[in-house]
Amino acid sequence: MHALQSQDPEVFQSVHREVERQNDGFELIASENFVSPAVLQALGSPLTNKYAEGLPGKRYYGGCEEVDVVEDLARDRAKKLFGADWVNVQPHSGATANQAIYLAFMDPGDKLLGLDLAHGGHLTHGSPVNFSGKLYEAHFYGVEESGPLAGRIDMDHVRAKAKEVQPRMLSVGASAYSRDFDYAAMREIADEVGAILWVDMAHTAGLIAAGLLNDPLPHAHVVSTTTHKTLRGPRGGMLLVGKDAPSPSGATFRNGNAKSTGQDLDSAVFPGTIGGPLMHVIASKAVAFGEALKPEFTAYQQQTIANAQAMAEALLERGYGVVSGGTDNHLCLIDLRAKGVTGKDAEAWLGEADITVNKNMVPGDPESPFVTSGIRLGAPAMTTRGFDADDFRRVADLIDRVIASGGTEAEAVRGEVHAMTAEHPLYDIADLGLAP
Ligand code: PLP
Repeated sequence: MHALQSQDPEVFQSVHREVERQNDGFELIASENFVSPAVLQALGSPLTNKYAEGLPGKRYYGGCEEVDVVEDLARDRAKKLFGADWVNVQPHSGATANQAIYLAFMDPGDKLLGLDLAHGGHLTHGSPVNFSGKLYEAHFYGVEESGPLAGRIDMDHVRAKAKEVQPRMLSVGASAYSRDFDYAAMREIADEVGAILWVDMAHTAGLIAAGLLNDPLPHAHVVSTTTHKTLRGPRGGMLLVGKDAPSPSGATFRNGNAKSTGQDLDSAVFPGTIGGPLMHVIASKAVAFGEALKPEFTAYQQQTIANAQAMAEALLERGYGVVSGGTDNHLCLIDLRAKGVTGKDAEAWLGEADITVNKNMVPGDPESPFVTSGIRLGAPAMTTRGFDADDFRRVADLIDRVIASGGTEAEAVRGEVHAMTAEHPLYDIADLGLAP
């Protein structure tokens, strides 16, 4: 019998049921993915026991020989994957990685210019409820609400806002934006106002690693990411500095070249924002980066984009609004106003059909963030399971059936959802040691 089952049946039951939930349903949360058994194995290893404050070769604890090996593997693989000159794989999460960036480059009260949360930005890009909005003076740019660039960022408006605000740091990156960013233009704007350019590629890192979206590394002074979204690794964060990143001006940076930028960031991670790094997670990141360096990873990311596009087109054909009219990446933002349905209701009805999505604000949303007029749909997780564009058109069809029926079709649709997922098995409960 599995140790967890005999020792702690309550936790065992929940873990078991959660694996069943992941196995049976459609996982369409754009920020989620399914890691491989090898990534899971490293994550569940006794490396969790090890304290290793510091960096490989420069630790504050003994016994770090093997964890040094895995952290070096993670760093080297990440550098190769993104063409980076410097990386730090220790941040516990995307939010922690971003905290280190603020600590390294901003003084309390300094000005930040970032993408508005209600237009697809992230909490850590200056939201008033987050440390970034409480400690720093946050200003925002957004997407256009109408006109030819509806749902997209107009760079002329970003430039005008940057000139008006004169931020110390300009952030680029999003949690709910389906179009690519023009990092070269963002860098020009940052240079015009003497700002640091920070790119948070948390959502799109896997697509960028595969060369399918614009690469921020040559343009940004600093890049942050999570490792668990399109990158398909364990839950965690990472910081990177590009090989070709132009030397930042001494006026905006405490030091003045890519190497010392990395050193500033290393100290901002530890001791600045974390204590001991999570060595089991770092081992697991190394495994995931190894997977991402294989050619199959590029094919996976190509399929992810094709699937998101197929889903968006199928929903457009059924009369749904798709913010910006489509997608360049792994997600699409559906505006439900034409259907007279809120994001909150759609999320709940789809949940009854075992289709997991999240309600999401759409640009110009009249509803509160607890209700919203939209849902965000992502393709990464179901693409990992082997769904192709035809499968995603069927996913769109089932979503429409649930929403158009006001949820009454949810139970019937659930049967079809389970039939489709059964054709693309995910985790083997027995292999995970979770068979009761
Ligand atoms: N940055 C962006 C753009 C994100 O979308 C997210 C998470 O959704 C984060 C940062 C934060 O990552 P974490 O949840 O690991 O703290």
